[in-house]
Amino acid sequence: MPDMTVFAETYAEARGKFLDAARAAGARHVAYPHADARGPAGEPLFLDAVMLGPANASRVFTVASGTHGIEGYPGSAAQTAWLGSGAKLPADTAVLLLHANNPWGFAHKTRTTEDNVDLNRNFVSFDRARPVNAGYEEVHPNITPDEWSDAAVAGIFRWLDGFRSRVGEKAFSDAFNGGQYAHQDGIFFGGARVQWSNGAFRRAVKEHLAGARKVAFMDLHTGIGPYGDHIYLCFHPEGSPARERARQWWGERAVNLQGVTHKKLATYSGVIIDAFAEMLPQADVTSIVVEYGTRPREEMQRASMLQRWLRFNGGRDPARAKKLQAEYESAFYPAEADWRRNVLEQSRDFLAKGVAGIASC
Ligand SMILES: [Zn+2]
Repeated sequence: MPDMTVFAETYAEARGKFLDAARAAGARHVAYPHADARGPAGEPLFLDAVMLGPANASRVFTVASGTHGIEGYPGSAAQTAWLGSGAKLPADTAVLLLHANNPWGFAHKTRTTEDNVDLNRNFVSFDRARPVNAGYEEVHPNITPDEWSDAAVAGIFRWLDGFRSRVGEKAFSDAFNGGQYAHQDGIFFGGARVQWSNGAFRRAVKEHLAGARKVAFMDLHTGIGPYGDHIYLCFHPEGSPARERARQWWGERAVNLQGVTHKKLATYSGVIIDAFAEMLPQADVTSIVVEYGTRPREEMQRASMLQRWLRFNGGRDPARAKKLQAEYESAFYPAEADWRRNVLEQSRDFLAKGVAGIASC
């Protein structure tokens, strides 16, 4: 039975446990304090970078949590458990743990940043025109109700079903999930400017990985995949050496979309793993997204729409908003003990494979 006390219910608690474990493991720690945002209790917010192993290691396995705020709770628990596991690192190999890429969302228990931005759509160039998501233009007015009621939600899903059968699964995913840059009060909004979290992530990567030659990046999320299991998303092109490395390290399921609950994956804009690879031209980079599965696909779509309703309309009915917020939280961070135990058991396995993989290539 894994040690379940690594799970936390607030950002400050998660950070405290993570940093205690880092200290006990003898890891080096650099904190990147948030310039101008706080947690719900006024607490300060940080991206924390913790590194274990030689500072000049040429091989580094990087594991990040909280790119999507609230999704960081299980990721943080996995990072803390790994630090406490006493894992021995092979020669010339280090592990870099990035805790709470989007600390505002982590602390406020939502997916997005202080500007309602999906950080994993924010890594685009803001010097030129942002990508246009024509499909989302049609979706937006149909998924942004003033009132959140069962009838309103049923109506939204009827409309979405019609839209999907009209445009097909791929165009549906692109429109709904792909990212959009035109509606600050919408879903999967990529932002109108570089987010603080984007800049902090870039600083941390530069300061810790500039000398590395072989680098892996695992970004931990929740919300896609079967409840209690995890899935991999590998975006390296078919036939590329990086994709082959991912397959060797984590097996066929790392590249074959096993368990992925989206019928067709969107073509995403501005994602963090692409920015990571672009920042490290001197290194062979292997990137992988891991999602701990939670609720069925339709419930997660409902949660995405509920999140923006809570943010922009929920203030009018605080009692109801509180109840709906709890429903939202359980979609991304289930409280069930068996779910949390699975997170730790599976993470122990795939993190060990990551360490062995980076040491072997
Ligand atoms: Zn996510």
